[in-house]
Amino acid sequence: MGKSSKDKRDAYYRLAKEQGWRARSAFKLLQLDEEFNLFEGVTRVVDLCAAPGSWSQVLSRVLIKGEKIGRAGWEDKQAKEKLELHNQTTTTIPRREQEVKQQLQPRENVKIVAIDLQPMSPLEGIVTMRADITHPSTIPLLLKALDPEIFDHTSVQASHPVDLVISDGAPDVTGLHDLDTYVQSQLLWAALNLALCVLKPGGKFVAKIFRGKDVDLLYAQLKIVFERVRVAKPRSSRASSVEAFVVCTGFRPPKGFKASLENPLGAGTQLQVPESMRTTKTPPSRTLRPDGITELELGSGDEEEGKDIRWIAPFLACGDLSAYDADASYHLPKDHVVLDPVQPPTAPPYRKALEMRKTAGGAYGKTKLG
Ligand code: SAM
Repeated sequence: MGKSSKDKRDAYYRLAKEQGWRARSAFKLLQLDEEFNLFEGVTRVVDLCAAPGSWSQVLSRVLIKGEKIGRAGWEDKQAKEKLELHNQTTTTIPRREQEVKQQLQPRENVKIVAIDLQPMSPLEGIVTMRADITHPSTIPLLLKALDPEIFDHTSVQASHPVDLVISDGAPDVTGLHDLDTYVQSQLLWAALNLALCVLKPGGKFVAKIFRGKDVDLLYAQLKIVFERVRVAKPRSSRASSVEAFVVCTGFRPPKGFKASLENPLGAGTQLQVPESMRTTKTPPSRTLRPDGITELELGSGDEEEGKDIRWIAPFLACGDLSAYDADASYHLPKDHVVLDPVQPPTAPPYRKALEMRKTAGGAYGKTKLG
């Protein structure tokens, strides 16, 4: 796909470059925030799988600089209509900088930590860490980055300073649907377990999911640890993709629950099932202990039990209907200038392949790749 063609076919890709976002994903977070008011009362945030950093840019602008980036801040309906109907005029969307400046409300004591396997170019006010979110050693590193002074290795369990954990984790997609879904779900579990270890009671968790066959079981498990669980599809996420986001609010660690990466989600034992999820029918394998904790084997494969704990999360499409459609192509004016990406990848996994191809004299060179 040519550069100009990509601008035409992906309005959010083009818009991201015009507005200085490192990736089009910024709009997904903005549209989720529009619907769920994610940043309300939030000062400590962990951004997982953060590179190249467009979600961190949103956090930096909203929490550190105090900008209010509502829909008016990133989209101009009129400009869109001009593009669609007249196929002329400029594609540059006004940033309304004056308006934004007047609304600046920086927050105090903001702490944002961004983690990714890939190196990430620095961003104002954000602590960036190169680490694997599936590795247990990442949690103490993260807690130390959040609070170097009060951090104490012995009290990792006791330290829950975070208001919001967001995760846009995605593996390098292979195109093999089952494999991609599986690897993505492993990333989601890692993100959730990490969130359970650092979130404050009442905290929020937002993560990318691929809606696969057993996704309702995931919703049920999330509902055990969060008061409200919603599934959301921002308008900037292509309708044709299985991608969606779980938005979980009101973290309520179940009685007796101890978060640990070695024993994720309590490994299916000793979770207290909230009242809202109990049914009158008690499956035979479930036992109520004298201390009020219901022991429940999650994912044991027992059909009857599975039926009992499944819970379907409400699904919401978010982002205004007048926002760009991620699946549509838009006309561009004849004098459209194709901008370079704001932040090219610092160490893309495909770099080696590109170098090999160059050495081989192009795509049709004599040297075979891999
Ligand atoms: N939210 C980012 C933004 O707005 O710029 C985009 C994230 S991108 C879709 C997915 C990221 O997940 C990649 O940068 C990848 O390196 C990261 N990732 C995948 N597996 C990871 C892991 N185990 N630990 C940390 N990061 C991981």
